[in-house]
Amino acid sequence: MTGGAYILVALSFALATGIIGRSKGSSFFIWFVVGGVLLVFGLIAVFCFRFEKDEPERRCPRCGTVQKLYVQVCRRCGEDLYLPDPSDVRPGRGRA
Ligand SMILES: [Zn+2]
Repeated sequence: MTGGAYILVALSFALATGIIGRSKGSSFFIWFVVGGVLLVFGLIAVFCFRFEKDEPERRCPRCGTVQKLYVQVCRRCGEDLYLPDPSDVRPGRGRA
């Protein structure tokens, strides 16, 4: 494999990994670097990596269970959870 082809492949993995990382709420740049260095392993890592700690949370209006913001149906009572009242949203328990 020539150097130019390697750079193209590395860039492709870096971009894909960075975009996935960003869509999961993490840093595009960090995952761009990870993907560029680890290639397919970086891509696998970003697929497996869970960013749940950083997800904002809100409380179910019916049963009071704390849910992640992206959860659309309450896991306990089945209540439909649409756009929450902003006052109910709070940051996740992750490091700020
Ligand atoms: Zn509920």
